[in-house]
Amino acid sequence: MKAMTPKQRLEAALDRQPVDHVPLFYQHLGASSHLQKSTGISVKEGFEDPEKFARLSMEAHRLFRFDNVMAGWGDILIESQAHGTKWRFTDPRFYPRVESYVPMDQVGAIRPVDPMQDPNWSVMLRGARIMMERIGHEVAVVGCIDSPMVISMETIGMENLMMSTFQSPELAHYLLRTVTESSIAYMEHIHKLGMEEVFIENGSAGGEMVSVEMYEMFDRRYLAELVQWCSKLGLRTIVHNCAAQPLYMSEAELRPTALHVHLAAVEVGELFSNLKGKTCVMAGIDHANLLFKRSPEDVEAEVERIIRAWGEGDGLIMAPGCEMPYKTPLENLQRLRESTIRHGRG
Ligand SMILES: [Zn+2]
Repeated sequence: MKAMTPKQRLEAALDRQPVDHVPLFYQHLGASSHLQKSTGISVKEGFEDPEKFARLSMEAHRLFRFDNVMAGWGDILIESQAHGTKWRFTDPRFYPRVESYVPMDQVGAIRPVDPMQDPNWSVMLRGARIMMERIGHEVAVVGCIDSPMVISMETIGMENLMMSTFQSPELAHYLLRTVTESSIAYMEHIHKLGMEEVFIENGSAGGEMVSVEMYEMFDRRYLAELVQWCSKLGLRTIVHNCAAQPLYMSEAELRPTALHVHLAAVEVGELFSNLKGKTCVMAGIDHANLLFKRSPEDVEAEVERIIRAWGEGDGLIMAPGCEMPYKTPLENLQRLRESTIRHGRG
């Protein structure tokens, strides 16, 4: 098969079409110590300046050669700060942290936000535009957003949100509805920029936190709306869930383009047989231990095991289970890529 560009490869796999080899997906700003070192740009500077944001993100492709770049990072606060959460940088090399959530008595005053009007959220959109101009024809520039439930959690705090689903469900629904409106505005912006994929973090869909019924009543109801909007706009959706007990079958019912789970949290054979042929599967190999601490040989053995377990059939993408740790060794990243190509030839 003729060699594909990274963008063609990723998009073909997402559409469950044949590929020259299994693509490798890059999440957020994984292993960012290497990127900050070679660009001389800190994460904090990237949050403040679209050009720096784009340069840091594109450096990941130049150094690691995965098949996409991501126009959004794993701070999980970017949307919630636009809705009132206060954040603070304690170290310019790392993501900001929550300083304070919106108090419960002010939730009713939260309004939908246009991401382009928010001084911080807009940096990512402007950065995305720069990446689209410079490398977008060859490398997929993937949008990135937290699901309405995750945004809501980061806006009022997880405990308060959980409590309000029991004590004042109408308030929980109000907040979820409001941030869903902002998220739809985000989708319209990235669509206008010519982007074709969006990564939606839905790590709140975990059996260790909620029952399936509760998940579907609150969390999934709004995720569903978002996935529908995306499909109307022609955007492919990648639903990410690195919960300890991911409720992936319930997510799969929404028919996202792809589901991304951490393989350490599931039975791999069962996952593949449940989803293969229905949804593209992004197989998240262990980033926290294997990629971060073990040898390149161990990384290759795992990649080989996963690709074998998948067997024949289109629609597999290899990925780390979640954003890779700050100092993930370069040798392991290199081997992850090489072995994905070696064992994943179509
Ligand atoms: Zn994750």
